Amino acid sequence: KGSLVVVGTGIRTVGQLTGDTIARLKTSTKVFYIIADLVGEQVIKQIHPAAESLGRFYRLGRNRKEAYDAMVERILGAVREGHRTCCAAYGHPGVFAFPTHEAIRRARAEGYEATMFPAISAEDCLFADLGVDPASSGCQSHEATRFVLFRKVVDPSSSLILWQVGMFGDATYQPEGNRGRWIHLLVERLCEHYPEDHEVTLYEAAVFINCAPRMERIPLAKLIEARLTPATTLYVPPARSSVLDEETCAALGIERAALA
Ligand code: SAM
Repeated sequence: KGSLVVVGTGIRTVGQLTGDTIARLKTSTKVFYIIADLVGEQVIKQIHPAAESLGRFYRLGRNRKEAYDAMVERILGAVREGHRTCCAAYGHPGVFAFPTHEAIRRARAEGYEATMFPAISAEDCLFADLGVDPASSGCQSHEATRFVLFRKVVDPSSSLILWQVGMFGDATYQPEGNRGRWIHLLVERLCEHYPEDHEVTLYEAAVFINCAPRMERIPLAKLIEARLTPATTLYVPPARSSVLDEETCAALGIERAALA
């Protein structure tokens, strides 16, 4: 009977592939991959030479959801044929990755065993490179377009991470990103909560070994003219301190100094 495992390659495939992922790539009878960089693709092909890219389902200017549906159908087809099927996606396969979750959900609904393994996401790299600990102020993480469209509640005393800023306002496939065509709408929304000169970071984790990450600090208002790519993640640090609930703190007997 067929089965499905979904694995992630990490952001820098050389070095971030986990033992679980390598084992699954080796032992599966059918391997698919959704990987954005050529080195990562080569690494997968070295481990499983017959691995098949699902990138061919993307069509320039077409809705990305159409491509995702076709990918899920291709994966499910292999599972139904009885393959021990593996799908590898870059980063963490379950983080901002619709087709992988959908493939797992549908495989299980059809009675197949389906498992997802965690891996290193862009956000994990960001915490390391920017020295941000989500524990200190709390951290919100949103897809940039959905953040604006659903008017998500902003807490300026927490960190804010916005994904897919390079594709802001665009549901179609644009391999170069849309070069920030509608980014002013995101800036306007953020300026309702943060000062225009609040320093934000354009972050791109290094994909290749011996390369430095992009960590470009700019005032929020300058985001309108910034160079944005499909790999850009925006980090917005807290703009103010969190307010302590003194009464509950005292009731719990917690010393203020203990709240590092
Ligand atoms: N599954 C991926 C992960 O675990 O990081 C995320 C895939 S999501 C479809 C694409 C978004 O992830 C990008 O628009 C960007 O926000 C973020 N991303 C991807 N590669 C990145 C990189 N090298 N550095 C920073 N962010 C990245």
